[in-house]
Amino acid sequence: MKTAPQHPGIVYLVGAGPGDPRLITLRGIECLRNADVVVYDYLANELLLNHAPEGAERIYAGKIGGRHNQAQDEINSLLVEKGGSGKVVVRLKGGDPFVFGRGGEECEALREAGIPFEVVPGVTAAMGAAAYAGIPLTHRDFTASVAFVTGQEGQGKDDSDSAIDWDRLSLGSGTVVFYMGITTLRRSMQRMMQHGRDAATPVALVRWATTPCQQILIGTVADIADKAEAAAFKPPAVTIVGDVVSLREKLSWFDRRPLCGRKIIVTRSAEQAGEFSTSLDMLGASVLECPTIRLVEPESWQLLDLAIRELSGYDWLILSSVNAVRFFFGRMETLGIDARALAGCKVCAVGPKTADALRAFGIRADLIPGDYKAEGVVDEFAGLDMHGSRVLFPRADKARDLIPRELKRMGAHVDSPVAYRNILPERLPPETLFALEKRSVDCITFTSSSTVLNLAAMLGEELLLDMLKGVTVASIGPITSKSCRDVGLKVDIEPELYTLDAMTTAIEAHFTN
Ligand code: SAH
Repeated sequence: MKTAPQHPGIVYLVGAGPGDPRLITLRGIECLRNADVVVYDYLANELLLNHAPEGAERIYAGKIGGRHNQAQDEINSLLVEKGGSGKVVVRLKGGDPFVFGRGGEECEALREAGIPFEVVPGVTAAMGAAAYAGIPLTHRDFTASVAFVTGQEGQGKDDSDSAIDWDRLSLGSGTVVFYMGITTLRRSMQRMMQHGRDAATPVALVRWATTPCQQILIGTVADIADKAEAAAFKPPAVTIVGDVVSLREKLSWFDRRPLCGRKIIVTRSAEQAGEFSTSLDMLGASVLECPTIRLVEPESWQLLDLAIRELSGYDWLILSSVNAVRFFFGRMETLGIDARALAGCKVCAVGPKTADALRAFGIRADLIPGDYKAEGVVDEFAGLDMHGSRVLFPRADKARDLIPRELKRMGAHVDSPVAYRNILPERLPPETLFALEKRSVDCITFTSSSTVLNLAAMLGEELLLDMLKGVTVASIGPITSKSCRDVGLKVDIEPELYTLDAMTTAIEAHFTN
């Protein structure tokens, strides 16, 4: 026999924000992190689901039921059922749960069933759209009020069926934001004019607000419907009506960012892409992450383990990437050995990011070569007396052998066990393929030779060249650029310093000059 749960569950109605996945609240993320079940909507950004534990059940509410009301009843029952079985349920809703989100009805159903619930507010579409379009919803010089109105009410022939007070909405200067109002745009604008709003009042339609696909159409109460029809403007969008819309000319910022409208492919391992993607994204680019490398354990740990157990016998440890740091210290951890084992050993970190990664393990690098290529590392060691020194160089399986070779020539004993392997992911993400096929990609970035060679291996050189026709190629440095040329690609951007920061700056300069 099933026993009833000791504690009832709880349902959190969480506002997901308008689209940009960073516009959710901290409380919203906290709820997602604790979720057993997430029931999400069409308008909630799916990236937010990554905050939920891997094992959490994910239910797309857009699929439930057929007709609208029936669908809502089914969602209510689902929340009651899941919450009633002792689960922590997150009901993730686009924007704010209590603004045209039917969150009220869901709460009523939960209260009736005696299931505890909490409501976490979100940035509603009107506010997201206004902020990202540069349109203050209120302004001392223009208006002191704003109304949020559904476009789906009272669309009959006269006002008798309307729950909206069109007189109050139309007279005066208050800003009005219509939700769900694109299909009914013409009728709403006519109504506003009939009820006294100046036909010349500016109007903004904002579609997919706060996302890289944000689209804006500006007109007046009199002509916006024609303009929207001519542009085949589609939902989801909000319609902002009011003199404040004119402020956008002065205050727009989202679309003024240097890489706005540029689609950029970042080819790195999935683990690493984050930071670089974020910096491109902050400049306004729409970033497609395309992992071309998967980092996995070596086929055998034997040689690395041997070296780690004998760390006190080495004079130098050379770590040439963040990955090398990650795998090396990861393995030390597994073996139950900590940073103290490195007490007598000097550490060389190739590149500032590698040095940062080391610092996270409590280790300050003794040497950070000014030039981040293998040649630069060798030059630094050439200035030291390496004769008879013992060097440990944990490396990737496909790494160049320049460093161990040259150090050996200087008289050092070098051990270079494999700490991780680069392997090919099975396929490209569908969004990336789709964008390449549609020829909508502006730039592709390569941050190591293996990103180039792996992409060529995944697509085949011929297809690679065809798909990248007309796409700007950015390479982090001369070695990577050589690999690009080897597969037949022309390099358009190469920064002077071989860092991701310098690469970001070079890409910005390329597209703004
Ligand atoms: N609870 C949501 C609204 C749901 S109603 C909120 O607070 O935002 C659905 C309507 O919201 C859409 O028809 C559209 O008018 C608006 N909307 C939601 N997300 C939007 C977005 N990213 N850009 C423009 N409008 C959006």
